[in-house]
Amino acid sequence: MRREKKVDVLVVGGGPAGIGAAISAARNGAHVLLAERYFFLGGMGTLSLVAGLYTQWSGERRILGGIVRELMDSLIQRGEAREICVPMSASPGVSSSRTEINPEAYKYLVEQKAVEAGVELLYGALFSDVRMEGDRVVGAVLETKSETWEVDARVVVDCTGDGDVAAFAGARFDKGERESGTLQPISMLFLAGNVDVERVFAFWASEEAPRCLRAACARGEIPMPSMALHNPGWERDIIVSMSRTACDATDSLDLTRGQIAAREQIHRVFEFLKVNFPGFEHAYMVASSTQVGVRETRRIVGRYTLTREDVIETRPFPDAIALGAYPIDIHRAEQNDVFFEQVARGDAYGVPYRCLVPADVEGLLVAGRCVSATREALGAIRVQLMCMAMGEAAGAAAALCIREAVQPGSLDPALLRRALRAQGVILD
Ligand SMILES: Cc1cc2nc3c(=O)[nH]c(=O)nc-3n(C[C@H](O)[C@H](O)[C@H](O)COP(=O)(O)OP(=O)(O)OC[C@H]3O[C@@H](n4cnc5c(N)ncnc54)[C@H](O)[C@@H]3O)c2cc1C
Repeated sequence: MRREKKVDVLVVGGGPAGIGAAISAARNGAHVLLAERYFFLGGMGTLSLVAGLYTQWSGERRILGGIVRELMDSLIQRGEAREICVPMSASPGVSSSRTEINPEAYKYLVEQKAVEAGVELLYGALFSDVRMEGDRVVGAVLETKSETWEVDARVVVDCTGDGDVAAFAGARFDKGERESGTLQPISMLFLAGNVDVERVFAFWASEEAPRCLRAACARGEIPMPSMALHNPGWERDIIVSMSRTACDATDSLDLTRGQIAAREQIHRVFEFLKVNFPGFEHAYMVASSTQVGVRETRRIVGRYTLTREDVIETRPFPDAIALGAYPIDIHRAEQNDVFFEQVARGDAYGVPYRCLVPADVEGLLVAGRCVSATREALGAIRVQLMCMAMGEAAGAAAALCIREAVQPGSLDPALLRRALRAQGVILD
């Protein structure tokens, strides 16, 4: 069965970028449909249990406001999140702040906020094709359990992480290769219950913990020599990230293979932790990522491509729509390590509006992990709160394009920046 639908803005993908885009476009007066293939919002933060969200701060300086601040403050006020300072394991003395969230509380909050903003939600909706007029995207086809939706939209915002809409529309993109190690690996996280959290953190902070992990990795007992832990303040539960598998997540067969390999890894890791990590002795596994976490796939070629130098030299841009301070952070499957390159404390780089505008397709904006950036720059701006901030900008831009009757490529960035400032976004 077929169903036709007309909207102002279609946002595809309900991760941090899609949440920011949909709420922002709706608050700017657009009729918004947000299509998500699963049955909840949040993307990696809920779907894959990536429950630490980087970063609202550069040292003591707040760099993200707007919807990011509204959502994070709301979770903190509800006792469902806390701000922590995390050492970057590969760079001694360097740390970054992140908001640790309860994924279920986040899932509930962002859904409520989207509905309150007037966003029309369509869950269980897999983007399957694009509708084009020449080189202009004019809508999309969504497969749902009951019908095939043919959606006409004046602007489409691709927040799929993988840039699915842009790729189907024929937009140019770059993507590394699994074989040559130029794609970051995927990871599966899990939630462990009945953990003595205090003892886990005490051991983790000791010199013994890294020695123990390195030795176990060298013996082949665990897949990687380090781990990340997420905890929004729980006493008996903790989320563990310690798996790493090479995969091209735009290939469904490879993604299936990766999911199976990652699940095997987390069960091995869990057994290892129970025996070797004080505090895990009586733990049980409560849940694993619904889908493996994906760090890197397509990077759409936009009107500007953010570079390593832009990030490291904290370059400003006249059309910046968000500020970032998270370092370059690239997981390397082959070396089994993480490469970090730091940004000066208190400084921030800008992300230009042009990174959200595909170079060769109109009617379309991209936000989140699939924006126009080199591998190095993406290693910095791919973190969740940056993706949400880019989404907020894309949503406001989409609504402005409709009001001004222009295509995204012709929108005056000064107008957009004025609108973003009015909604609390920090731009300098
Ligand atoms: C293992 C791991 C650890 C990480 N650690 C951190 C961390 O500690 N802190 C941090 O801030 N960031 C971290 N990141 C990075 C961050 O989680 C992602 O880069 C970020 O979530 C990307 O946001 P997004 O909105 O672009 O995409 P996603 O979060 O991937 O959301 C995309 C959404 O689109 C939906 N979708 C995709 N394709 C389709 C389709 N065809 N049709 C319909 N819906 C679709 C998906 O279901 C999903 O809901 C980590 C990532 C991984 C994988």
